[in-house]
Amino acid sequence: MKIYNTQSNRKEEFIPLNEGKVNFYVCGPTVYNFFHIGNARPFVVFDTVRRYLEYKGYKVNYVQNFTDVDDKIIKKAIEEGITSQEVGDKYIKEYFEDADALGVRRATKHPRVTETIPEIIDFIKILVDKGYGYVKNGNVYYDTKKFKGYGKLSGQNIDDLVSGARIEVNVEKKSPTDFVLWKNQKPGEPGWESPWGMGRPGWHIECSVMSTKYLGDTLDIHAGGQDLIFPHHENEIAQSEAATGAPYVKYWMHNGYITINNEKMSKSKGNFFTVRDIRKDYDGEVLRFFLLSAHYRNPINFNRELIEQAKVSLERLYNTKKNLEHLEKHATLSDMNDSEKKILEEMASHESKFVEVMDDDMNTADALASLFEFSKHINSETNENSSKEFIKAVFDKFVELSSVLGFLEKQEELLDGDIQKLIDQRQLARKEKNYALSDEIRDNLSEQGIVLEDTPQGVKWKRR
Ligand SMILES: [Zn+2]
Ligand SMILES: [Zn+2]
Repeated sequence: MKIYNTQSNRKEEFIPLNEGKVNFYVCGPTVYNFFHIGNARPFVVFDTVRRYLEYKGYKVNYVQNFTDVDDKIIKKAIEEGITSQEVGDKYIKEYFEDADALGVRRATKHPRVTETIPEIIDFIKILVDKGYGYVKNGNVYYDTKKFKGYGKLSGQNIDDLVSGARIEVNVEKKSPTDFVLWKNQKPGEPGWESPWGMGRPGWHIECSVMSTKYLGDTLDIHAGGQDLIFPHHENEIAQSEAATGAPYVKYWMHNGYITINNEKMSKSKGNFFTVRDIRKDYDGEVLRFFLLSAHYRNPINFNRELIEQAKVSLERLYNTKKNLEHLEKHATLSDMNDSEKKILEEMASHESKFVEVMDDDMNTADALASLFEFSKHINSETNENSSKEFIKAVFDKFVELSSVLGFLEKQEELLDGDIQKLIDQRQLARKEKNYALSDEIRDNLSEQGIVLEDTPQGVKWKRR
């Protein structure tokens, strides 16, 4: 399997540090608002990379942080008359609602900056002790000229960066490329006790600390949007390698930009869409489909026509799934015959193709194409005369590959009326002492998230 490594600017064979295990860190959202579709791209893309690694048999330790201390959060808190903590809590909840709709699985760990302050302070102390950090009036800065490899990720050298930097009004910094590790507290801002006085961490330091805290000094993969390459990820390398002495990241992955009707997304142009906005018209899974329809490193353009296309395409995959479900339920023959066995072998070519293109730096666009080929093949080779065993084998493989990309995982929601009908059937079965049937109905409901409770007033149900 090959992954394009931003640090070397080429595709490299993927070999994790520890066989069979992948330590994977993705920069998470700053939680002060609903996230927009530009933010959604890395969440969806790297969730897919994680799923594919798991499909390949790796155990993936996947960490994505929440930035819950930030100027924008403080501003929002003042506007709304609540605390920064409350702003963070609210938008973390909203993040999960949208991420769930997009089929983005929960990370192994979602650390928050406010829960990592002692570790951040310890980390900055190490940098100061080693001479990479300097203190001015309660602020701590990183001395970029001291770090030999500064600029290696973005392919720039420090002298060019210094001369190209904007004229800085900040007289405390020794060099315009230096950045803040710890900010002293201003009135009305949240703050924590530190050796340098009350204050709060800078943005870059939090990712260095949260990633190493949960994943160790060297990560297999660190990912994010390409706008984070400089300065955020460059600064993370400088901090982490100076503090630990170990290489920070083996593979850097970055996704490309998103445009709206071929224009840069901006609030002033009125073409700014949050995922929440789009979900009013489209299922989150449709947006996921759109986001994976291009290679993750390429730019992607969003417009009404393309999202409509995504909707229609996704429906085709669902139709194939539903047809198979129907055929399996009504199949009269149970065992696979020889010609079905042969067809199943032929169908394996679609999985090989899927793997081949995903192995080539996660080409989800081509992986989707192979899924549609598979779907076409299924529709031409399955019918009422197919055996149950054959249908089931085809179904399992089709659903498995679809779910590597995060599709076809939605259960059709049971309506309240249907639930009541099933409960009535179960009551009848119990009256007739048909306990096998009554248990089966209970289990089916449970699989769909419906919990039954026997009460003196009769059977009550609730959604889990
Ligand atoms: Zn980060
Ligand atoms: Zn085929």
